Amino acid sequence: MGINLVQFQKGLSMGQFMERYGTEEKCHAAVVALRWPDGFVCPDCGETRHCAFERKGLTYWQCSACREQTTVMCGTIFEATKLPLTTWFLAMHLLTQAKNNVSALELKRHLGVRYKTAWLLKHKLMQIMSEREASRQLDGRVEIDDAYLGGELPGGKSGRGSENKVSFIAAVETTETGGPLRVCLKKLEFTKEAIAEWAKTALAASAHVVSDGLWCFKAVTGSGATQERS
Ligand SMILES: [Zn+2]
Repeated sequence: MGINLVQFQKGLSMGQFMERYGTEEKCHAAVVALRWPDGFVCPDCGETRHCAFERKGLTYWQCSACREQTTVMCGTIFEATKLPLTTWFLAMHLLTQAKNNVSALELKRHLGVRYKTAWLLKHKLMQIMSEREASRQLDGRVEIDDAYLGGELPGGKSGRGSENKVSFIAAVETTETGGPLRVCLKKLEFTKEAIAEWAKTALAASAHVVSDGLWCFKAVTGSGATQERS
């Protein structure tokens, strides 16, 4: 998947949506703008010089260096699809704007496709949305704490240092007043190196970390985040 899901503006009405993405040409142009915001880049060699031509209603870009021909859909979820882009876009709009879960049956009705098609569309799109959500970094005020799971051997130490327990870092992005927004749990050994590595992927550089001050938590500042003891 070489392309992010088209990010629709929140609260886009159906009328505004149709105006922007109501035709195959408009959807195609949106995918081009998203994939190549600064113009064509060859997916094989990175060259930008190219020529473009139409074949069977599709625009092909031919790289001037390696001669590879590609459509904007190659390497994206739209590759090899038999559905019009307008159907994909409408499905994305319905799934991202809905407050509640949209059933495959509802999708089938709105899109005018077979149930199986609606089901597949829904699951492909949901998967991409959850992958994107999982890779999004925590930002703003983030509370971190250490957490442990698992049993103890009789006579084992209790608390942080105990044996046979799996250690996790628990990070919660909160509102300014401490209301929880998103949670990230990650299995981790509490060393400076492991915390620094985790912070690089899990925290945005503008995050402000609040913790009870387990000594190794200071290492989050390696990602650019600031840290304070609560
Ligand atoms: Zn090329």
